[in-house]
Amino acid sequence: MKLLLSTASLIHAAHCRNLLDAAGIRAELRNVWLAGATGDIPFQESAPQVWLLDADREAEALAVLEAAARPVPGPPWRCGRCGEWHEAQFGACWHCGASREPAGTTGAG
Ligand SMILES: [Zn+2]
Repeated sequence: MKLLLSTASLIHAAHCRNLLDAAGIRAELRNVWLAGATGDIPFQESAPQVWLLDADREAEALAVLEAAARPVPGPPWRCGRCGEWHEAQFGACWHCGASREPAGTTGAG
């Protein structure tokens, strides 16, 4: 078990757990019953927490949460024919109509 994150919002914690669950990463919520008990206990100890069952998958879990938090599905890309820049969600150049080239190809000259 490994603590992945703690958050002031139980909804946020549950959302993160659901994202991890959908990605096949097993996680567990803690402190859900203490959410209204702040005051006597330090916040850090009473805040809702998301724990990973497999500590080895922390990097993978963080990548899942980061990808979900980012609205744009990837970096912008540049048309190989005319050089126009586009947001990641577009599959073809609006300027010249060329299809987007697969990521990783570098335009050599
Ligand atoms: Zn173009």
